[in-house]
Amino acid sequence: MAKISVLSDQVANQIAAGEVIERPASIVKELVENSLDAGSTAIEIEFKKGGTSFIRIEDNGCGMSEEDASLSLQRHATSKIKDANDLNKLTSMGFRGEALPSIASVSRFQLQTRETESESGTDILINGGKVVHHRECGMPPGTRMTISQLFNTVPARRKFLKTVATESAHIVHYARLYALAHPEVSFTLIDDGRTLFRTPACARLRDRVMEIFGKSVAGKLIEVDAKGKGMRLSGLIGAPGHSRSSRHEMLIFVNNRPVENRTLGYALIESYYGHIPKGRYPVAFLFLDLSPKDVDVNVHPAKREIRFRNESSVRGFAVRAILEALQKSVEIVATPIMRTAPIEKSARLGIEIDSENVVRSKRTPILASVRVESSAEKEVETPAKPKAMVEPVSTEISEIVPEIREKSNDEIVEVVDRDWHFIGWAQDDYALYDTDSGVVVLDYKAARRRVWYARLLASYKDRTVESQKLLLPVPVEFDPVSSAMLTDNAELLEAYGLEVAPFGRNFFRIEAVPSWLPENEAEAYLGDWVDLLRNGSISDKKTGPTQELLAKHAVNKIVRGASTPSAAELGELLDRLFETNNPLADPNGRPTFIEIAKSELNRRFHKG
Ligand code: ADP
Ligand code: MG
Repeated sequence: MAKISVLSDQVANQIAAGEVIERPASIVKELVENSLDAGSTAIEIEFKKGGTSFIRIEDNGCGMSEEDASLSLQRHATSKIKDANDLNKLTSMGFRGEALPSIASVSRFQLQTRETESESGTDILINGGKVVHHRECGMPPGTRMTISQLFNTVPARRKFLKTVATESAHIVHYARLYALAHPEVSFTLIDDGRTLFRTPACARLRDRVMEIFGKSVAGKLIEVDAKGKGMRLSGLIGAPGHSRSSRHEMLIFVNNRPVENRTLGYALIESYYGHIPKGRYPVAFLFLDLSPKDVDVNVHPAKREIRFRNESSVRGFAVRAILEALQKSVEIVATPIMRTAPIEKSARLGIEIDSENVVRSKRTPILASVRVESSAEKEVETPAKPKAMVEPVSTEISEIVPEIREKSNDEIVEVVDRDWHFIGWAQDDYALYDTDSGVVVLDYKAARRRVWYARLLASYKDRTVESQKLLLPVPVEFDPVSSAMLTDNAELLEAYGLEVAPFGRNFFRIEAVPSWLPENEAEAYLGDWVDLLRNGSISDKKTGPTQELLAKHAVNKIVRGASTPSAAELGELLDRLFETNNPLADPNGRPTFIEIAKSELNRRFHKG
């Protein structure tokens, strides 16, 4: 005799029930999903004793014909999918065709249903999987399912039920979830004759939250709504500072289905880093919508858990959207904790300025007189005279030749008292000075580059890089190779003021940046670092060149973003410039200023 026999439907159903019907709340969940799938606009849920003695779910949806009502109680009978392909375009809650037969196999189960166009309804009563009656009944269009004596056929299961209070809490939880996901459907929840909530259909999630969770919760929520990469994240989340001791109010929906998903849960908690105390949880009613083919809901029998095809892109998108919403709310609600630009700060120190706006600084260099071929000279058009009459091109100008300065800076620059009188601005970038011996044209940007370069190099050498914690950490994602580079060089980065913490695979959070960097450039700056690391330009060993390279890189960023200095700030800038070891050129070797000697002017004007 064969040892294997095929299980009867009754046993198979009970086994399935073991998976699908964990507790009374699971029944509420399955039946409410069916009601929603049936297009209902009103759903009423009633239960007694935590659902163990009585559950009724009633809707005004499409109902079933007599034939469908019978079929619905058979295993794997569903109207929602026809073949496995349909799983990829699932828009309904149900699809397994297991709920009704499972429930009916472990309880006393009554199904009453009527299609709108039918004159009468169908009433089927099943007890422990066996049909007690099947008859016609009068009722309004829709479906009513009544469950009593739960687990009457599997007494052992009853022992696993928790207290009435706990089971009730689970039911309430599910009822809230579905009510939140469907503000357009009116929900009623009745516990032992007491109405817990009755929500009219409403247009907005916030109204629904207010109905269910009360004004105090609803009042502290901010809106999230972001689209991108074929996804949309919307809903309401707690304003910064608003937290809970448990995750119970972190409610997440994917394609309107309440889910437990670690990726999204983690993304949410991570995003609140710095906004709520450690060990506390945010409040959130979040809805992620994406193509059904990018989600696998067929992971857990109760469909509570889901998987994303591309976990990291979902995570990245969600974190960005949440951080953006938080950032916005911080900007609106609170005084932003903004940083003053470092340049402005330092430039305001120790300004010495007299009544005529003449900046007198203590010392000035005597510039090397170098004979140069001035190519610019050739292009000077002298309007009144023909070209031939212009002086030959070889001219003596006191001018800076950066290459020379870089080499023998100390010998060339002798410092004496400086007496530069600021005349005004020319061509945007140039400050003009009248001096004892001629005219100075200062490229203030080049001067700033030199000053900042010196300052940054000094801080790198002393390991005193000033860094600034970001108000909101910036999430960034890299390819695996770059990620590995970042992980390996976290310490190096930190020495240069960049604090980057990994969170999840290939995903990082920029927590602090050098003080000089505008917050919105954090990501781009880290990207530059990654490039430099990848092409080998910087490494732990090449300290000297690395520092110079990084300083040069930083300097260009700083100066590009800085505003034009006031006359007073210019004075300060000059003082700092002449404190550096090479005031004559910027870090790229371009002159910071040129001087045209009086003798040169005279000569050009044919005087003496
Ligand atoms: P599934 O939801 O996975 O299809 P169920 O066992 O939950 O499986 O339901 C079986 C079928 O019964 C559904 O496919 C649907 O056609 C029908 N049905 C169940 N509940 C309702 C309802 N409230 N209104 C209309 N039809 C329903
Ligand atoms: Mg179902």
